Amino acid sequence: METRDVAARLARVHERVADACATAGRDAHDVRVLLAAKTMDAAAVRAALLADAAARAAGSGTAPVLLGENRVQELVATAPDLTDLVPEWHVIGPLQSNKINAALRWACAVQSVADDALALRLSQRVRDRTAPLDVWVQVNVSGEPTKHGTSPAEAPDLAVRVAALPGLRLAGFMTVGARSDDERVVRAGYARLRSVRDAVLASGAPGTADAQGLSMGMSGDLEAAVAEGATVVRVGTAVFGARPAPR
Ligand SMILES: *Cc1c(COP(=O)(O)O)cnc(C)c1O
Repeated sequence: METRDVAARLARVHERVADACATAGRDAHDVRVLLAAKTMDAAAVRAALLADAAARAAGSGTAPVLLGENRVQELVATAPDLTDLVPEWHVIGPLQSNKINAALRWACAVQSVADDALALRLSQRVRDRTAPLDVWVQVNVSGEPTKHGTSPAEAPDLAVRVAALPGLRLAGFMTVGARSDDERVVRAGYARLRSVRDAVLASGAPGTADAQGLSMGMSGDLEAAVAEGATVVRVGTAVFGARPAPR
């Protein structure tokens, strides 16, 4: 894809976020855009990062985009070619314990923490770092069996345990929304993630004070997520175009 096209698509995403924020009476600066780079090669991601930098240089007033990768294999293939642009990479897919070291060479946040075992391993792995690792608890708000994440019922207790682990900073909660054409269903799921977050913040438990983030909403439904309080929306196709069919 042409760099020009990526720039226009990215600008359109920022516009959608700004419109949704205006409708919800929110400040557009409170919502970050994360580019979900799955299946995209380094050249495509570079084009998007350059478009983002150019827009900001021209006065867009938007924060730098974040990058997300679902699979460590792809992160490791893409990230080394983009170090000159110093992007912030987030892991947004299930993370196997044998891939933690590789992931943490590149990623500054793991949004897909859905059980104690992964949280413990991450905590042990970063124990001797000076800066904490940002982690997000992934919640399956729709209950769809194919989706990763802990249940909304179990999420608050898990989050409190994660927040107490050394070396980790609980930054918030992440979900992949319901696959539904009914906006009410989608929004109800996002509202559920917000209630989980609010319950954890209200608990006052150690390490939970920073857990204000809500990573929710994708290309097709970011408006619904922003309406329910998203602080990060994760977009792929809206910026990169359709992904090649899996082989
Ligand atoms: C692919 C993906 C996205 C982006 O999806 P689009 O519909 O392409 O915007 C967001 N979050 C996760 C976890 C993904 O896997």
